[in-house]
Amino acid sequence: MNIIMVGAPGSGKGTLAAYMVEALGIKHVSSGDMIRECIKKEDAFAEKLNSYISKGLLVPDEIILEMIEKRLQEEDLIPGVILDGFPRNVEQAIALEKIFNKLNKKIDKAVYLNVPDEEIIQRIINRRTCSNKACKQIYNIKFSPSKQEGICDKCGSKLEQRADDTQEIVEERLRVYHEMSEELVEFYRKQGLLCEIQNKNDEKTQQQMLDIVIQNLKQ
Ligand code: ADP
Repeated sequence: MNIIMVGAPGSGKGTLAAYMVEALGIKHVSSGDMIRECIKKEDAFAEKLNSYISKGLLVPDEIILEMIEKRLQEEDLIPGVILDGFPRNVEQAIALEKIFNKLNKKIDKAVYLNVPDEEIIQRIINRRTCSNKACKQIYNIKFSPSKQEGICDKCGSKLEQRADDTQEIVEERLRVYHEMSEELVEFYRKQGLLCEIQNKNDEKTQQQMLDIVIQNLKQ
């Protein structure tokens, strides 16, 4: 089963994906995490990637496409994948279809988390993530803090704030997102693949959102 997560930065794609991993037994692949891993290497490629990400801009399609195509061919993704952060525009979505066709795979659903912008900003600037690569638990220092400040409840590692989670960069990321999102959502709606979840004021719990997705997958 192959699922795509669509939604603004900070809409909760990564958190819901973690629940889906447990429920569906398939892996979560985040394009943003892949890019951040590359940036840690501090080489010329890392510098190039950082010149986009640090401004809240998208990295060029050909770079991200090459990374994703390579990753999708790995053995651990044969049972399926939850793709988060990719595709981000219709060009990437069309390219993804071609990659899936080559691999004899198909997209089963596009899960769209629809959250108002004013909520997004609050979520992102207060977001902290576990620095342990195998954990990556997400917290919010206002709404869902860890028990001990700066320390992950799950694994005891340090929590960190992403360098691009500042008010100024978030506003730019949201602008970039809106410029492309409507087209992308319509692309998947037209194909009958869209599972839309409205989530104003965090009214739905992760479990409720997961139930909606599972219900939708059965249709
Ligand atoms: P968010 O969804 O919170 O903005 P991500 O972790 O998905 O965060 O992405 C962080 C940054 O990585 C983006 O602002 C962009 O620079 C880059 N990025 C991630 N995915 C893509 C993609 N599919 N195409 C181009 N750039 C991407």
